[in-house]
Amino acid sequence: MEKPLRSIFGPVLSRRLGRSLGVDLTPDRVCTLDCLYCQVGATRNLTLERREWVPAEVVLEEAERKLAQGTPDVVTLSGSGEPTLHSRMGEILGGLRALFSGPLCVITNGTLLGDPEVRSELGEADVVLPSLDAGDEETFQRLNRPHPDLSFEAALAGLRAFHREFQGEIRLEVLLVEGINDDEASVRSLAALAREMAPARIEINTVKRAAASPAARPVPPRRLRRLATLFGPDARMIAEADRGAEPPGTSGGLGEVVGLLRRRSCTARDVARGLGLEDGTADRLLGELSDRGEVEAVLRGEDTYYRLKGREEEVG
Ligand code: SF4
Repeated sequence: MEKPLRSIFGPVLSRRLGRSLGVDLTPDRVCTLDCLYCQVGATRNLTLERREWVPAEVVLEEAERKLAQGTPDVVTLSGSGEPTLHSRMGEILGGLRALFSGPLCVITNGTLLGDPEVRSELGEADVVLPSLDAGDEETFQRLNRPHPDLSFEAALAGLRAFHREFQGEIRLEVLLVEGINDDEASVRSLAALAREMAPARIEINTVKRAAASPAARPVPPRRLRRLATLFGPDARMIAEADRGAEPPGTSGGLGEVVGLLRRRSCTARDVARGLGLEDGTADRLLGELSDRGEVEAVLRGEDTYYRLKGREEEVG
């Protein structure tokens, strides 16, 4: 089996961005938050410290190798933690810019945007997708479970400053969880904050895959559609965009499946869609990994999810 890369994964078929080559700057689940709904699993290192969690040279060398094999639609900083925690993120974005002429995207929880250095480094990106799930401190603590030195007000102030300064496109993602932030008063207050910042897009999402905690339940589709209208006519439901046929047939191998499962538990269909494989190919690769004892299947509701052995906390 080819050796999985340390920092680069995919390209995966992203619901929001198309075929996206993923760049994971915090591969060991390093984050400022420990969200109930996290697909990667519980945060291992809850921190506000910016460090070089993986050497920038390794990231760029792996990206160059992968980009030589084919051109994705976008290159995205995302993965198993919070990319803005990498102390050389700006340099890495600059290096990626030299390797790839398409859009550079960053998916971030937005909590470090109060740091002018972070905002300045993100200026290298074309599209930034920050999150806003809570409209008050209590919900922030309950849902996002932040580092003890992080407050809702500070995170919100950073997000507002970023909206004022950033020259590229901002797509604000709001994730609603049943029983936690989906009551009408909470959603109205979130919608007011989101609309005041006037991002290019507001994207409404709910818990979709295996989450870190069983307390993270999806908002039923009909209710989610109704709540999405509170954000205005241009708000877009990500769950809706996820439907539809996907292009088959790229080069996913066992290493790429492992790379994907390292970042989140997936159904066989998620693997097929994420790596652009025929359903039968995804089934075969997952079967092979199961036979080798590297992957195990877990039932969640009516769906069978696959996870790497030893990642028990990923499926609630
Ligand atoms: S969902 Fe994102 S922000 Fe929340 S814990 Fe997981 S990686 Fe961190």
